Formats: sequence, structure tokens, C-alpha cells
Amino acid sequence: MNITINPNLTAPPGTLAIRLLHQRLPRVCVAVTGTDAAEMVEKAEALIHDNPFIEFRLDYLSHPALALPKIKRLTEYHPHATVIATCRRVASDGKFRGSIASQLEILAKASAAGCQLLDIELQSALRCNPQHLQKLRSKAGLILSYHDFRSTKNLHETLQKMLAIPADFYKIASTATTLTDNVAVMKFLEENSGKHSLIGLCMGEQGIISRVLGVRAGSLFTFAAVAPDEKTAPGQITAQELRNIYRIEQVDAATRVYGVAGDPVAHSLSPAIMNVALRRENVNGVYVALHAKTLKDLLTCIREIPIHGVSVTMPYKQAIVSHLDNTDSQTAKIGACNTMVRGQDGKLYGFNTDGVGVIRPLEQRITLEDAKILVLGAGGAARAAVFGLKERGAEVYILNRSAIAAQKLARQARARTIKRPDLKKLSFDVIINATPVGMANPRESPLNADEIKAKYVFEMIYDPPQTQLATLAKERGVEVISGIEMLVHQAARQFEIWTGKPAPVDDMLRVASVALQQRLANKNGNRPARK
Ligand code: NAP
Repeated sequence: MNITINPNLTAPPGTLAIRLLHQRLPRVCVAVTGTDAAEMVEKAEALIHDNPFIEFRLDYLSHPALALPKIKRLTEYHPHATVIATCRRVASDGKFRGSIASQLEILAKASAAGCQLLDIELQSALRCNPQHLQKLRSKAGLILSYHDFRSTKNLHETLQKMLAIPADFYKIASTATTLTDNVAVMKFLEENSGKHSLIGLCMGEQGIISRVLGVRAGSLFTFAAVAPDEKTAPGQITAQELRNIYRIEQVDAATRVYGVAGDPVAHSLSPAIMNVALRRENVNGVYVALHAKTLKDLLTCIREIPIHGVSVTMPYKQAIVSHLDNTDSQTAKIGACNTMVRGQDGKLYGFNTDGVGVIRPLEQRITLEDAKILVLGAGGAARAAVFGLKERGAEVYILNRSAIAAQKLARQARARTIKRPDLKKLSFDVIINATPVGMANPRESPLNADEIKAKYVFEMIYDPPQTQLATLAKERGVEVISGIEMLVHQAARQFEIWTGKPAPVDDMLRVASVALQQRLANKNGNRPARK
């Protein structure tokens, strides 16, 4: 959807240049910082070709004025770029320690250096002589900004207060403490962006939806970081992620919203995997991380945004079931739902694709009918595996720390239980680890080496990518199937349920592996992960 800019009441007569600027603003403005002026401008120089809209956070510099001659050279060399100068004061949660007068002086010089837009926060603006502000505004477009680093509240009242000060853009960045806060900001944008030139978003990890969807609600643009470790606001994502993963330039009113919901959810690989699938199959959809602290918050967000499909993760897999209008037989048997779809009738339908995540990788290797399979664990993932395998005619044995849970599952699924001492007497086609043993402590294994008598070990854990169980299995010549395959195949089935299209599994698998390696490299301080 193209955003139409109303020649609004808040723009002064004669600022044609600003109105023209409105119309060519890209959706993503990259906030650039630096330890000194040279580093800041070099960074901008490196990214300006792909990101023609940047914000210089001058307040990050101990001597902001020193950057201005370099900025002047940059703006002269890149006349098509749009540049915001921001020198936010400490009192408004910026880093500039100078007076308001010095702040205005730096902004005036930034405008002379070619910055077409100047950001000044409401707190400073309220204490300024209005004539000084107007003088600034006669040379550049003024963004009047307000940041609430604690909550999302009083959006309309805040805007009314801001409108008393003439400006070209009004920016409100609040903090999302719930997913529903994003809904509040997006409704606010929908109601007011026809009358005023607004930039609106929620900060914080729970505000990511607003950073991706705010532009279609009426925010003229959104802010992005240069790199994950260079965020200028909590929850900010990188320009590369906004463009390449979330395809922000294509998000429009018809874009369907999907997401992975849980608590925590920040490190989920699903946004990378699912957005690639949506792009490959030309589905007008975007998939975001939904950090839901409560189920109620998640359900409100699903209804209000609305969200078309959700990958449900811990801790809501069981609790969501009673809120669904209908479920498939797998969800009913397992007692947990990992996939929700919102029907055209607005009803919520639940599926469980975890079983498919186990079955498909195995069927690529063996015939499941009469295959002898040992499942370690009797929790949610084990239940999905056991029911799925039994449906395919496999002979399933369950071994669990708590014997009662194993017996209960065996009874329900018509499988068998096995005692650990008997393991040495038996061999299996597949051993599946559906316990978290080996995840937190990479030296722990649910089985000893001499208990691994199988053709395949299916290790559901994918982080770390090499568990002790996998190492022991490989040493015995047993082929290991990685949990990443389960992750991708259960996601592929979700994709099929949501879109009716076959999932591009190979692409999803490749992206998942790369994203996992990247995550490990980040964990190890950008050193390549140890093999
Ligand atoms: P869950 O519902 O909490 O079940 C955990 C199971 O592991 C229970 O049977 C529990 O036994 C057992 N267990 C826990 N700690 C143990 C220990 N220290 N020693 C022995 N057994 C222990 O968890 P879940 O959702 O089924 O997940 C299980 C594993 O599968 C996790 O590692 C998860 O990351 C992985 N998983 C992977 C994927 C994927 O896509 N690759 C998908 C889902 C799950 P008790 O009954 O005795 O408590």
C-alpha cells in the first residue's frame, strides 16, 4: 500500500520541499552511531548506497560538532540521500549532555551541513523559544519526537500536546510491555495518519510487530539498526532484517500476518525459516516473533491485528487448546497444539505438526511400517512422535525418567514401555531423543554408548547442534538425524496448512542451518562455532 500524504494542517505554507520529501521517503531509516565522528560518517558512507535514508545520532559523539564538516561532504557527495540529524539530550534518554541552546546550535549547523530533517524531542521543544524552533524549521524539516521508555499510554493526549508545536513530522515511540500495546499504536496510526505526518512504533522486544506493520498502519517510516549490536533503541531490528527477512517494502493492507508465539521467543529460528518460505512461494505474508507474556495477550493480538496463523510454542501449547474453536485429531490425542490458523469465519483452528516433523525425516530414510523405534521421553514432543509413529504402523517402545508418564502414554497410544536395563538386549531401527538431556549440559547424554544399538539416532535437540548423544552415536557408526530437520518439517507442514502450497523444504533447511550457525557464532562472540 502506498501511503498517501495529506497536505496537512501541520505543515506550514511554502514548505514544498518538505512535502516532496514526504513522498520520496523510504520506509526504513537506518540509525547510525559511532565512537567518533570519523567512524560514524565512515559507517554511513558504507551503507548509504543500499540505505538512502539515515539518521545521524550526533548525541552518541562526545564532540558532535566535529562530525558536521564530514557530514557536509557526505551529503554533497550523496545528494539523493535523506539525512536526519538527532542530538537527543540526556534528559530525554539521549546522550547529549549540553544545554538546549547548544542542542539547537548543533541542529542548525547540521541543517547547514545538508541534513534535511532535524529531530528534536518534545521535552526540549517545550522549553525552547518558539521563534528559535521556527528558525530551524525554515531551513529543514522538523521531526518533533516523544519517547516513552516504560509504557504505551496516552497516545492521543501526547499527540495533542505535540501538535501545539508546529512541526513537519510527529514521532511517537512508546514501549510495548504487551503484544496488545502494538495494537494500540497501530490503531492510533490508522486514526491519525490521515491528518498528520506521523512516525509511530513500539520499542522493546514485544514491539517488533509495530516495527514491521506500523508502516501499513500509517507510520511514514520506521527506524532500523545498522547491526544487531548497534541498536539505538530497545527492540530495534536491523535494516537488513527488515528488508530481507520481513520484506517491509512489500508489506501492504493485504499482507497476511503470521508469527511464532511463546515466552521466551526472541531466539526462535522460525521467523528466518518461515519468511523465506513465504518469499519463495510468493505468498503475500509476513511472519514475526510474538513474545506473549500471557495467553490472554496473545489471543487479543490474534483477534485485533488480526493474525492469520501462529506457531504456538512453550508455554502455551497445552493452554491454547481450550480457546480454539476446533482442532485436528493429532492435537486432541497429544493434548497440545503447535499450529493455529484463523479461518475466514474468524474462528480459531488448532493443528499439531510436531508428529509430521518426526515422521517426514524418517520416511525419507526408512519404511516406518513395522520399524522398531525407541522414544526417550514422554512429554509433548515424545507424545507427538509416538502417536505419529503408531499411525504409520511402527513398533514403538517408550523409556522415560518417570515410569508412570511412560505407561500412561503407552496405554493411550498402544505402544510399549521398556526398562533401561533391558536396553542392552535390544536393538532398534531408530532411537529418538525427546528429552532435553544434552541441551543445557553438552556433556550429558540420555544413553550410554553401549545402549545405543540402532541404525539411526534422531536427536530432537538442535542447539547445541552436536550433543553428547550424537557424538556417541556417530562414534558407533550410527547415522544421526538432527533436530533441525524436525524443526523444518513441522514448520513446512504449518506452511502448507496456512497457505495451501507445498513448502520449499530445502530452502527452509538451508536457512535454518545458516541461522543456527549465526546464532552460535553470536553466542561465541562472533567466533565461528566449534565443531
Ligand atoms: P517436555 O514436555 O517438558 O518433556 C520433557 C521430557 O523429558 C519428559 O518426558 C521428561 O521426563 C524428560 N526429561 C526432562 N529432563 C530429564 C532429565 N534430566 N533426565 C531424563 N529425562 C528428562 O518437553 P518437550 O516439549 O517434549 O521437549 C523435549 C525435547 O525435544 C526438548 O529438548 C525440546 O527442545 C525438543 N524439541 C525439539 C523440537 C524440534 O523441532 N527439533 C520440537 C519440540 C521439542 P519426566 O516425565 O520424568 O519429567
